[in-house]
Amino acid sequence: MSISIVIVGSGPSGFYVAEALIKSEADVSIDIIDRLPTPYGLIRGGVAPDHQSTKRVTRAYERTALNEKVRYYGNVELGKDVSLDELRATYDAVVLTIGMPGDSKLGVPGEDKDGVIGSAAFVGWYNGHPDFRNLDPNLESEKVVVIGNGNVAIDVARVLVKTPAEMTEADLPRHVSDAIQASPINDVYMVGRRGPVEAKFTNVELREMGNLKNALAIVDPADLPDEVTGDWSDRDRRLRERNLESLRGFTSASRDGKQKSVHFTFYAQPVEVLGDEKVTGIRLEKTEVIDGRAKGTGEFFDIACRLVIPAIGYALEPLQDVPFDESTGTIRNDDGRVDDGVYVAGWAKRGPTGVIGTNKPDGKAAAEQILEDIPSGVKSGRGEFETLLKSRDVRWIDFEAWQRIDAAEVANAPPGSPREKFVTTEDMLNLLADAK
Ligand code: NAP
Repeated sequence: MSISIVIVGSGPSGFYVAEALIKSEADVSIDIIDRLPTPYGLIRGGVAPDHQSTKRVTRAYERTALNEKVRYYGNVELGKDVSLDELRATYDAVVLTIGMPGDSKLGVPGEDKDGVIGSAAFVGWYNGHPDFRNLDPNLESEKVVVIGNGNVAIDVARVLVKTPAEMTEADLPRHVSDAIQASPINDVYMVGRRGPVEAKFTNVELREMGNLKNALAIVDPADLPDEVTGDWSDRDRRLRERNLESLRGFTSASRDGKQKSVHFTFYAQPVEVLGDEKVTGIRLEKTEVIDGRAKGTGEFFDIACRLVIPAIGYALEPLQDVPFDESTGTIRNDDGRVDDGVYVAGWAKRGPTGVIGTNKPDGKAAAEQILEDIPSGVKSGRGEFETLLKSRDVRWIDFEAWQRIDAAEVANAPPGSPREKFVTTEDMLNLLADAK
């Protein structure tokens, strides 16, 4: 009998596990489930809508999904439609590639106020993720503060200040682009608790901030050291030198009629979100970097704004029956092995780091472990799983149904844009029902 494997989560790490299993040429049967009808996880719901070339990686995932060994089951949620114990009883191996869907907490007073929206939610909203369809962020603010100096912070800042013309080829849902364009946002502050050398954004993303049509990137030259000091590998030093060079370039750029500004605000850490129920501003403390860590100087300043977006990393809520490592915020694992027949890969294994391709070796490692631990299949997998879903009236979306959703999105696209996304599961299910 084939080795039956179920992969929970259809983002990059899930697809790389499947791809590696197929490449192994072992006798495997692979089912990929996802709680959304749509596949591709953060590629659809996380990668910025104006970075369509990055999203093209889904073409490779599509080839994997169409492989004869693979079936896709969208709209099936672990913990709601099926339990981990049931998957373990049905499949020889279960691979958890569920990513990190939530937001890390800032840990400062006031962060629960109306108007603080973590980047996982905000990025989900502008990417048309059904969970955030009704997020309705308050964009009635001339100033917006984005906390963090990673690529997500840059994505958020950029999407808020790009012109409609710059977004023509993006797949921003219509209600989102309408809301952003109607907003009075003029100044976006990107706040880093450390300095430009320690910033985590990569150079391509940083350089893009210097080429925006209607927004000027503003950097205080006093924040830029003459050279990169500290204990970095040669590669890391080069990357940081490149970032410094780009930031230096920003200091001499002229406004040229650009109406908006993105302020790179280094050496400042949030200490309190201000306001009653609703956010009216944020209090920051100036910092210095000592031994690589941000240390408050006791000097404070406020930025008045109605929207604060912490882009400080992602988090995973513990799942029922799944061992959790509180210290790392990941699924507890021994280099990917969680329990007999249970594996983890991607962010849920190692935390929210790295680019899309970083998940590839992770997927390969999980596939190798499965084939090492389970020489031949004993559990029936797919047939039993479908029987279980039918007995519960779970309406799953197979890959062919997803392709119909995809085609309808492409057909509905405004000129220049690749697609107009369906932003609710209900709309997707209705489309499929109408087609029948
Ligand atoms: P990230 O790269 O880890 O950046 C998180 C930022 O938040 C850092 O600047 C960090 O500062 C700061 N931070 C963390 N906790 C904080 C706190 N309590 N107060 C203030 N600041 C805090 O995370 P990310 O931007 O969410 O990105 C996640 C991963 O996805 C990264 O590997 C990223 O490169 C990748 N990604 C890539 C792209 C792309 O390639 N275009 C796009 C988006 C995301 P410290 O450094 O001081 O901790």
